[in-house]
Amino acid sequence: MKPISNVLIPALAAFIFWACNNSSASQPEVSAASTPDSTKAPAIVNTPLVAADATAILAKEQVPVLCYHRLRAWKPNEKESMKAYIVPIENFKAQIKMLADSGYHAITPAEYYDYLLYGKALPAKPVMLTFDDTSEEHYTVAATELEKYGFKGAFFIMTVSLGRPGYMSKEQVKELSDKGHTIASHTYDHHNVRKYEGEDWDAQMLKPKLKLEAITGKPVDYFAYPFGEWKPEAIPELQKRNYKAAFQLVGKRDSTAPLYTIRRMIVPGGWDGSKLHKWMKTNF
Ligand SMILES: [Zn+2]
Repeated sequence: MKPISNVLIPALAAFIFWACNNSSASQPEVSAASTPDSTKAPAIVNTPLVAADATAILAKEQVPVLCYHRLRAWKPNEKESMKAYIVPIENFKAQIKMLADSGYHAITPAEYYDYLLYGKALPAKPVMLTFDDTSEEHYTVAATELEKYGFKGAFFIMTVSLGRPGYMSKEQVKELSDKGHTIASHTYDHHNVRKYEGEDWDAQMLKPKLKLEAITGKPVDYFAYPFGEWKPEAIPELQKRNYKAAFQLVGKRDSTAPLYTIRRMIVPGGWDGSKLHKWMKTNF
């Protein structure tokens, strides 16, 4: 053993010396050319990103984006209209298991954005899982279930609810963010974007963004319209406040701003995995 150690230790020391000097010398270069993905793929740092125009974005295949609200059992007198927004936990588990068993990969809003705008590759069978309105079961049920399969979710938070009974706390939101889930904005108090004017834009789009950024320590780049409803005037207001993209619920994408009208669909509470699978394949 001795002769080998005698050779290896000086070689190792020389390598460490080289690596330390080399990495410190190259650090400024890497950060100067920094892009959101530069740390993951340093080999393509110097490849210029070419942004697609609206026509090119609209021509791309869409990723199914699923939208969830409540995850709990239906009450005996639950209204039919509410059953679209309330997915019993067993059905939710079956839906997520179906996605994993069928080979789907849950992508983040940032991955979808990079694919739409810059043509970056997505994993096979992409899907996005989104959760609106800050409910506590997004932390206790949804995140737990997603993490079983290595899935990431996007949580659209209305900041007025943070810490209230039945809703997530700031600490829970921070923990989701730290685990790699996306924390995104869903306004201050869920007022309909179609009615915004004057002070409303900052109150509903800027202040909640800043609050979530302070909680997570990360940029908040994505927005979901309450009720999925928007108006054309909302798009420059989102852009002014540095949102990269926004998600609606129903209707077509805007012909000039598809990134600010990305389609999602609510998963009805009564669906099992196979019904969801059939629907995903025909609707996106
Ligand atoms: Zn909502």
